[in-house]
Amino acid sequence: MSTIAAISTPYGKGGIAVIRISGEEALSVLGRVFFPRSKREITSYPPSNAVYGDVYREGKIIDNALAIYFKAPKSYTGEDTAELYIHGGVTLSRLVLEAVFSAGAVPARAGEFTERAFLSGKISLTEAEGIADLIDSRSASMAEIAASSASGRLSQKIGGIYDRLVALLGSVYAFIDYPDEDLTDVSPEEMKAELLKIKTELEKLKNTYHTGKAVCEGISTVIIGKPNVGKSSLLNLLLGEERAIVSPVPGTTRDTVEETAVFGRIQLRLIDTAGVRESEDEIERIGVERALAKAEKADLIFAVFDGSRELEHDDEKIIDELSRLKDKTVIALINKSDLERRLDTEKIKTLTDRVEYVSAFDEKDRDALVALVERLYVDDSLSFSDDGIITNARQYASVVSALDSVNEAFLSLERGFTQDIAGSLLEMATSSLGLCDGRKVNDDVVHDIFSRFCVGK
Ligand code: GDP
Repeated sequence: MSTIAAISTPYGKGGIAVIRISGEEALSVLGRVFFPRSKREITSYPPSNAVYGDVYREGKIIDNALAIYFKAPKSYTGEDTAELYIHGGVTLSRLVLEAVFSAGAVPARAGEFTERAFLSGKISLTEAEGIADLIDSRSASMAEIAASSASGRLSQKIGGIYDRLVALLGSVYAFIDYPDEDLTDVSPEEMKAELLKIKTELEKLKNTYHTGKAVCEGISTVIIGKPNVGKSSLLNLLLGEERAIVSPVPGTTRDTVEETAVFGRIQLRLIDTAGVRESEDEIERIGVERALAKAEKADLIFAVFDGSRELEHDDEKIIDELSRLKDKTVIALINKSDLERRLDTEKIKTLTDRVEYVSAFDEKDRDALVALVERLYVDDSLSFSDDGIITNARQYASVVSALDSVNEAFLSLERGFTQDIAGSLLEMATSSLGLCDGRKVNDDVVHDIFSRFCVGK
């Protein structure tokens, strides 16, 4: 494999910039551009030592710097790696990088250092995703979960279940290979008991995604209500001080925009907030159908009503339409609680039993809403830093598919089929789980994951 190099710090002026070089030639590339002040060869220093010296380009000193050589496998990538800590000038960084290229390194692709760490077995796929999430962290809780993934908590959890499946498979293979020898050391009953335990573990792991998704990916959310109930004012309350994305980003669907708000320990991905802001005569202008289409895209719906007025026809239409939606969490916000209440909530209670009295003007109501939403999405029995938590749809899909196969294996034994049938289902379960952590993952998925990183990581 070639020796790669890139600037690993962000583009721009700064105290220092780090140039990372990785591959078999890392030390010799370093030795061609960096000369210790001690006049000793850089190769004479033991690895993992910071050495002070001068950086040369085309025979002339262009900077003084610190250099560290990390000997394989004790490096980020698992390969021989060198890091140069130079002064953080934009042009300077580029010039030093050019010198490193002239000395034999080639430009690194985005994420290639981390990809090499995975390929050399230094980190698992979920650890790599943890590192990407750590860099992308939008809240302290997201950073906490990401750090736990990056340091291998999720990998260990998956690895534990994977090993149990493989051990069970081993016993079954003995039976398939030598059916007459009675080599299987697990009876169907014992196998069923072990499968139930594995199933429980997988279910627990699967359920962590409810929290992991809310913290790391965010809950897609809409605010719905007839004009003037206070949607726009409530939106501002929800976005609050911690508002994460200032410029609206294109949503998953045409014509929608999303804004992400850090909401306590979770994130809300508020869909079509532009529609909320220009909502005068919204019902008349876009019709209930459009409001409903918005709701269909969301997991969480805030249905807003004006508590200071009686329920009107438009409110009822919204209640009726929302009642038809399945698998949605609806929270009815009875707004303007600072005014005298005239609203009868009887019909609203047929839509949801989550009815909250709020005022868009009262900051304290945001805290109450955060607490309510956190109760819905955060499993407090989970430790963000210690439990393996699933944080993305890719990991979730592989755990669900492993769980399905384990269930089928259990059922096949229940129905009295021989253990070899259960064995082939267990084989599928290990493949699915193997995908999660990269034990059995294909190159496309690997490239896709690492392309999320920036150059230099
Ligand atoms: P939208 O059309 O649903 O987005 O509603 P707006 O947020 O534009 O609010 C409509 C009107 O209600 C504005 O005059 C707001 O100032 C007012 N309003 C919004 N929330 C409250 C509240 O909690 N209490 C009171 N008293 N007025 C509110």
